[in-house]
This record gives sequence, C-alpha cells and structure tokens, in this order.
Amino acid sequence: MADCDVLIVGAGPVGLLTALTLAQAGAKVMVIEGNAAPNDSPRAASYFATSLIVFRELGILDEVDARGIHVSLFGHHVPEYDFHALISMECMKGITYDYQLHVGQHILCDIVIDRLRQRDMPVLFGHRLTGLHDDGGLVRATIETAEGVQQIDARWVIGADGARSAVRRLAGIAWDGFTWDNHFIATNVYCDMASLGYQQANFICDPVSGGVVAQLDAEGLWRLTYSEDAWLEPETYRDRLPSRYRGFIPKGMKYEIASSSPYALHQRCSETLRKGRILLAGDAGHTTNPCGGLGLTSGMWTGVVLADLLGAVLKGDEDAAILDRWSDERRRIFLDIVNPGAIRNKVMMEERDPLQRRKDMEGVKPMIDNPELAKLMMFFPFRVIGDTLREGSRWAGVDPTIAAGLELSERHSQLA
Ligand SMILES: Cc1cc2nc3c(=O)[nH]c(=O)nc-3n(C[C@H](O)[C@H](O)[C@H](O)COP(=O)(O)OP(=O)(O)OC[C@H]3O[C@@H](n4cnc5c(N)ncnc54)[C@H](O)[C@@H]3O)c2cc1C
Repeated sequence: MADCDVLIVGAGPVGLLTALTLAQAGAKVMVIEGNAAPNDSPRAASYFATSLIVFRELGILDEVDARGIHVSLFGHHVPEYDFHALISMECMKGITYDYQLHVGQHILCDIVIDRLRQRDMPVLFGHRLTGLHDDGGLVRATIETAEGVQQIDARWVIGADGARSAVRRLAGIAWDGFTWDNHFIATNVYCDMASLGYQQANFICDPVSGGVVAQLDAEGLWRLTYSEDAWLEPETYRDRLPSRYRGFIPKGMKYEIASSSPYALHQRCSETLRKGRILLAGDAGHTTNPCGGLGLTSGMWTGVVLADLLGAVLKGDEDAAILDRWSDERRRIFLDIVNPGAIRNKVMMEERDPLQRRKDMEGVKPMIDNPELAKLMMFFPFRVIGDTLREGSRWAGVDPTIAAGLELSERHSQLA
C-alpha cells in the first residue's frame, strides 16, 4: 500500500505550490527536502501578475502580499547613452494586477509550508532522496535522514528538486541545452539605492556593469545581480565584489551586504517531463537564466497545471495519458517562449557591440509613451500559462489576456 498519493521531492517554491494545489484537489501529499531548513539564498524575488493569479487561486495572495512590496514602475537604463526610461504598469489596470510583487522566494515558501501543515500534509526537512524504483504501480523512494535510511512508497513522484535534480538523474532523463560560460553573482544589500536614481525594478544594459537592481522590502533591502566573466572562479567572487559594486554604487556610499551567492546559468530542458510514474517540475524540468524573471514564473505554472491534471487522474476523472500531453505542452512553452525570451534578455543586458546597444535602446523608447506597446511588454509573462489541457481545469479561464483580446504571439521577450 502507498504511504501517499504523491511524493514531492524538493521544498522549493515549485514543489510547495504544486503540493498545495494537489492537497486542495484532495490528494494525500508528502514533501521531502534534503536541506535541514528552508533555503534563503538570494533567488526569485519578482512576481508578475501571472504568478499573482496562482497565489490568488490558491488563497495565499493576501498573505504573500502583506510580506512584500508593490512595484509599478520599471526602469530601463543604458548608462553609456545616459538613457533612463521609465515604463509604467498602469497599462495593466482594469485587466489584471497593475503591479509586480517583490518578496524573497523563501518567504513565499514559509507561507506555503504553513498552509500544507494546516492540512496535515507533511513537509520533512533533512530528508534527501537517494534512490527511486518505479514498478509500474508504485514508486519506492529511498531517503537518507539523520536517523538512517527510510523508504516511502508513493503512487506518483514529482521531482521538484531544482536544476541539479536527483530525480531526473535517477530516472535517466537527459537534460538537453547548454550552460553559459559566464555566471551571475546575486547579492541582497542594505543601501539607499533609490537616492541613486534607481526605480524599484531596473534592468541595466552595459557590457561591464550590466545587471538587475530591485527593491526587496520597505526596510531598505535591495537585490543587485551582475555577471562575471567565464575565466573568473565563482568561488572567489567576494574578493572582486567591492570593485564590481562600484559600477552601481559610487565610492564612499555606505552599504551592507545581507547575503550573496554565485549562480551557474543554464538554458536546459529535460527530454521529457514524464517517465512512467515519475514527473519533473520547476527547475528540475526546465531551467533558464533569470533575466526577465521567467524561471519561477514558468516553473510554477508547470507545477500547478500538473497538480490539476494529476489530481484528476487520481480521482479517475482523466487517463494518465494526459500527463504525456502535459509534458509536451510544458516543453513547448519552455522551448518556444521562455528559453528564447530569457536568452534575448540576457544578450541585451550584456551586449558588447555599441551599435546593437543603441538599436536595442531605440527599440525600448516607444514603450515609454505608448501604453499599447508597454502592455505587450508587461503581459509577455502570460505566455507561460499555455494550454491547461482539460475542460474542468481549475486553471482554465484564469488568463485575463484572452478576455482582453491581447495578441502576444508575435512577442519574443519582454523587451523585443
Ligand atoms: C539570482 C536569481 C534570481 C532569480 N530571480 C527570479 C525572479 O525574479 N523570478 C523568477 O520567476 N525566477 C527567478 N529566478 C529563478 C528561480 O529562483 C528558480 O526558477 C526557482 O528557484 C525554481 O524553483 P524550484 O522549486 O523548481 O527549485 P529550487 O528552488 O532549486 O528548489 C529545489 C529544492 O529541492 C531540494 N533538493 C535538491 N535535491 C534534493 C534531494 N535529493 N532530496 C530532497 N530535496 C532535494 C533543494 O535543497 C531545494 O530546496 C532567479 C534565480 C536566480 C539564481
């Protein structure tokens, strides 16, 4: 007999949101997490309206909202040309949320963990998956804990265990694509960045000091992310951090680093998101560089659409074959929309050719004064919703861009 309907490996945002969606569909869910405590390294912090809709439907929006800040202006900077554009989210008013929410992903995780525990769904820290065996009826997971090795039998297993997914490796699923030569350094810093002319969300295009700057809370915490060249060792980034900061914060200005971490950057998609009773969601299934904030945005939709379908399969309302269609559709969303969009954003941020930089800048200018063009930029992340695959899906009909008649299919990224 199974210990649970669905075992979710990884208590990151995708695993937890997928677990909550399944629990609300009546499934018995368990979440295991290898680390002893939630991971609070600086990662996703910007949630577009696309994600706020997920939070609203799951009944957690008010709580997440109360822990974050609303951001309704986006700054696009090309310092070399003294170009500092302000693009407003006002154009979203009347269609959907006219702001993006900034809050660290670990805060989102804490909120969802509480909701799962209120439903008696276990979230077990210090439980690291080391083995998987799918016998066609049940999947047996081998788990290492401080108390020794345990086994859990589940009807289905979802690997939401991040880019270095053990589930993907144990299932023998290839991870196609490429890893960039350069890496990113993400830092959370206390500093009065607003006094330097930064908006609450900023994209800075520059081959030397390009990056992303965003306010994280009302207490003065900001995110500053920049890239480092391939030949530099990520492990020694702290030695170079003060000189790199000088590209964003003038010498003499006070700042205090709260946390920081180097990240490898991937554009990769698993060859399938389903193998028998083993499924992949979030970064385990498809991983992108974070320029444009499409990683978690698309990963959570992969997870919550899966949860709706799997809930229906568990109730006998759908045949398990629908999960193969889900795998195809989510791979399509990644390969056709997320991957090219995020690559375009990263290339634009780091562009070395001054002529191309000027061309990119000219492309952004019309969005400043034309709300119809600004709309295309702000609504681009809705393209990650895709086909929710069944008539009775709880996610069918939640995409406001359809009712608003917005045509986004020719849009290739937020900025182009
Ligand atoms: C600097 C930076 C900024 C970003 N900003 C944004 C943004 O603003 N918006 C956005 O949409 N995306 C952003 N992203 C991307 C986003 O952070 C990821 O897409 C997101 O974390 C993926 O969530 P996940 O739950 O799939 O995986 P993860 O968050 O990686 O969680 C996986 C979990 O699985 C656990 N685990 C791993 N192996 C095992 C095992 N064997 N057994 C048990 N547990 C295991 C890990 O410990 C981890 O807790 C950013 C990324 C970076 C690096």
